Amino acid sequence: MSSYSQTDIKYLNGVGPKKAEILNKEIDVFSVEDLLYYFPYKYIDRSRIYFIHEIDGNMPYIQLKGRITAFETFGEGRNKRLVAHFTDDTGFVDLVWFQGLKYITDQYKPNMPYIIFGKPTIFGNKFNITHPEIDPYKDEESRPSGLMPYYNTTEKMKRHFINSKAMQKLMATAYTSVSRNITESLPQHIVNGSKLMGLAEAIKNVHFPDNIPLLREAQRRLKFEELFYIQLNILKYTTERRNKLKGIVFQKVGDNLNTFYEKNLPFELTNAQKRIIRDIRHDMATGQQMNRLLQGDVGSGKTLVALMLMLIALDNGYQASLMVPTEILATQHFLTISELLKGLNINIELLTGSTKKADRERIHTNLLNGNLQILIGTHALIEDTVQFNNLGLVIIDEQHRFGVAQRAKLWTKNHRPPHILGMTATPIPRTLAMTVYGDLDVSVIDELPPGRKPIQTKQVYDKRRGALYQSIQKQLEEGRQVYIVYPLIEESEKLDLKNLEEGYKHIQEVFPGYTIAKVHGKMKPKEKDAEMQRFVNKEAQIMVATTVIEVGVNVPNASVMVIESAQRFGLSQLHQLRGRVGRGADQSFCILVTPYELSADSRKRINIMVESNDGFEIAEADLKLRGPGDLEGTQQSGIPFNLKIANIVRDSDILQYAREVAEKVLENDPQLSNPENTILLRQLRKLGGNRYDWGLIS
Ligand code: ADP
Ligand code: MG
Repeated sequence: MSSYSQTDIKYLNGVGPKKAEILNKEIDVFSVEDLLYYFPYKYIDRSRIYFIHEIDGNMPYIQLKGRITAFETFGEGRNKRLVAHFTDDTGFVDLVWFQGLKYITDQYKPNMPYIIFGKPTIFGNKFNITHPEIDPYKDEESRPSGLMPYYNTTEKMKRHFINSKAMQKLMATAYTSVSRNITESLPQHIVNGSKLMGLAEAIKNVHFPDNIPLLREAQRRLKFEELFYIQLNILKYTTERRNKLKGIVFQKVGDNLNTFYEKNLPFELTNAQKRIIRDIRHDMATGQQMNRLLQGDVGSGKTLVALMLMLIALDNGYQASLMVPTEILATQHFLTISELLKGLNINIELLTGSTKKADRERIHTNLLNGNLQILIGTHALIEDTVQFNNLGLVIIDEQHRFGVAQRAKLWTKNHRPPHILGMTATPIPRTLAMTVYGDLDVSVIDELPPGRKPIQTKQVYDKRRGALYQSIQKQLEEGRQVYIVYPLIEESEKLDLKNLEEGYKHIQEVFPGYTIAKVHGKMKPKEKDAEMQRFVNKEAQIMVATTVIEVGVNVPNASVMVIESAQRFGLSQLHQLRGRVGRGADQSFCILVTPYELSADSRKRINIMVESNDGFEIAEADLKLRGPGDLEGTQQSGIPFNLKIANIVRDSDILQYAREVAEKVLENDPQLSNPENTILLRQLRKLGGNRYDWGLIS
């Protein structure tokens, strides 16, 4: 847009310094242009008024015209709700409020004409509209009509009278004042080539749509623009980085890997494991730094892959390191890997927050002089005091649990950045990976080791534990082990513990003949390890725990995972927990214990778990249910931007297309130096503030 649209928002008619400050702070709107790029989050078709007798269970937001016949309140305290019986003489609906009851009864009176507006849902045999919008009805002339935009506003904005309606007014003022100055922000060849609506027209139609087709066109144009520039930015920057950065070259396969393969490998690798190792070996020999994400469902055997890759690093004279998110997991990896490496002359150590000072010092020294070859640890190993002699490969297990900054620190652990491999069982759906990582290489282990039986997942109501305990008893008698997990209630660790302690007692009473281990977040690492070990070596048959055992833990003899209050967990967490069983050849079970009454979302989550064992499917479903900003791990993995209009899930085809267009542009004009592309450079520079160091996201 033109410089005119850069005008400070405080000069816009109807704003002023005070409101400007609120717009700045609350929604990042500083200029008139910013305002025009603050898009409605929904539109309501107010051209039509429905009759109550037309309502069915499947309607979006609709408008009704009628009157309230009476108010009634139900329940007490937090369960109190207000119901207004509403009629238009073709039927009745109940309007329901759970909050602001007094305001409603003060504001609205029975037998006055109102336009109400909301989404009807079926409740019992009646229709219900919760928290509807209500406007007094005067006449047809003055009632809202057409497609009405709705803008998100915060509490603070509302307190200063900037609600959605006020935003509409501001938009109108803003648009009229700059409409003639809006200049195109995409090169003409792209606008034409992709049949896009021009910018000025799109801005107009997104705020004041005349009809739905025009609105769709406007949205498509603006979404494209948003996604296109993100892709162009990522692609341009990562290509430059790739060309600049030299990587360590791992040329050979040497004694360590060969001996391990011939003498120590406990089982045949799966084809997927072989393929991944081959690909990554190739990657690490190209002379470019590897930056790869390995996705493999829980139990697919990522640890073994990690180990063999580390051996390649060792064979080439470099050190390797494995970083994991929890102490339990670090210890477990250390023990497993030490066991697997028995007989090979390899120096391996464990470094966590609870490593003793003397051990720590020994580790520091041996890392620096190169005697120590493999270091396994928690984030303790990214501390500045931890310096390597020649670190060649870093593997980050459960990488979504680490922040961008934490991962970035690993880059500086060697004068030439080490190869980086992230591993995760919480797959990032493809569309999201593309947006977040740009050109990060992704490998997928799409095969489980042979002989695994799919885990059977069942939902059990908490009032019907009898049968559940019987089947647990049966498993225990067959020599299997059982996990029972209690949810983590973050607001109250005390309450957590109470849940867990009560559960522990209860389980002791139900299974008197068995030994029960207990692990929770408040225990000292030493105690945690000791309890974990009791379970690993079968001294304890039942493990009662909070989610500290969520990631990575591997006890193949465990065949039952009971998750208490399963409705409290997110999908990927449930999938991770379930992945703690089904690791051996026995049939395993996952039992999701829930109350009888569940919210619609919880019910969906539980159903997905019961129906699917596929981590990718679950991740996609999770993304759809929660929306991308909320996806577990994405915040940490650093989706560093707020999209203004596009939605990477719903708009994945526009994203795909925008990426192709961006690729083509860079292919023809890598420096963007053609005159027709100067506009692209200018826009990229403008987005400069949002330029991320993509290279550091591994
Ligand atoms: P994850 O990918 O979830 O980290 P792990 O690496 O913990 O999975 O492996 C799960 C289990 O599968 C471990 O007990 C491991 O020893 C076993 N395993 C790994 N690879 C194979 C294989 N090729 N054949 C048989 N079992 C395997
Ligand atoms: Mg693992």
